[in-house]
Amino acid sequence: MRIVVKIGTRVLIGKNGLDARKVDLLMNDVSGVIKKGHEVIMVSSGAIGTGLPFVHFSSPARKKIAAAVGQPLLMHDYIHAALKRRITVGQVLILSEDFRSREHFGNFLKNIEAMLSHKVLPIINENDFMKAGDLTVGDNDMFGAVVAAGIKADRYVILTDQDGLFTSNPDRHDGASLVKIVKKIDKKIEKLCGTETSDLGRGGMLSKVRAAKFATDKGIETFIGRGSRKGVLLKALNGNFPGTRFAAKGKTKK
Ligand code: GLU
Repeated sequence: MRIVVKIGTRVLIGKNGLDARKVDLLMNDVSGVIKKGHEVIMVSSGAIGTGLPFVHFSSPARKKIAAAVGQPLLMHDYIHAALKRRITVGQVLILSEDFRSREHFGNFLKNIEAMLSHKVLPIINENDFMKAGDLTVGDNDMFGAVVAAGIKADRYVILTDQDGLFTSNPDRHDGASLVKIVKKIDKKIEKLCGTETSDLGRGGMLSKVRAAKFATDKGIETFIGRGSRKGVLLKALNGNFPGTRFAAKGKTKK
């Protein structure tokens, strides 16, 4: 199977910035999936969250500079964790403009295919430094969905710091329960998302659910769950995912 995994900033960052143990735990999971013969493409946030503790000045470009500082540090920890498991990783930075140009997107897909065929694990992020204008909401959630559709992935897994989609905010309501399966993403489902986003990542649940809608509309089963759970990726493949599963449109599998 081919699986795109989007990793949210909060999966990787601890109290003191980037947490190498969290990166290692995640890479362990990714490596387990690869060793079972599956193909993995990672879309990882975390550059800004990693860089911010090093940027002690105020500037309109603060977040962009944080991304420039954080991206190589993030890759450093990914490379370290991957090499331990004999996996070679390659960094791919993209702009939304690249996805709007047929030629660029075609090149992107061709090169990702080539990486996969040579067992190089792609780690994709938005090129925040070069992005025009403000940094906007949930970009990587949607990038992940577009990548998954482009490379015809079988699964799209969005890893975050929450267990999935709840019937109401679990931090505020005792009766909140996890929605285990969503068969159709409509306004009612979007309403469950609330409006909270974290200051480090830019997504929040709504952008994840919208990305899930994009992917499931293209026939890709999508999952949202907590990235710190051991074996969470493998579970998305084995049908015992400890989060929310969004059924793919047009697929009969329940
Ligand atoms: N590209 C941003 C980063 O690496 C995150 C964007 C997002 O969370 O959607 O920090």
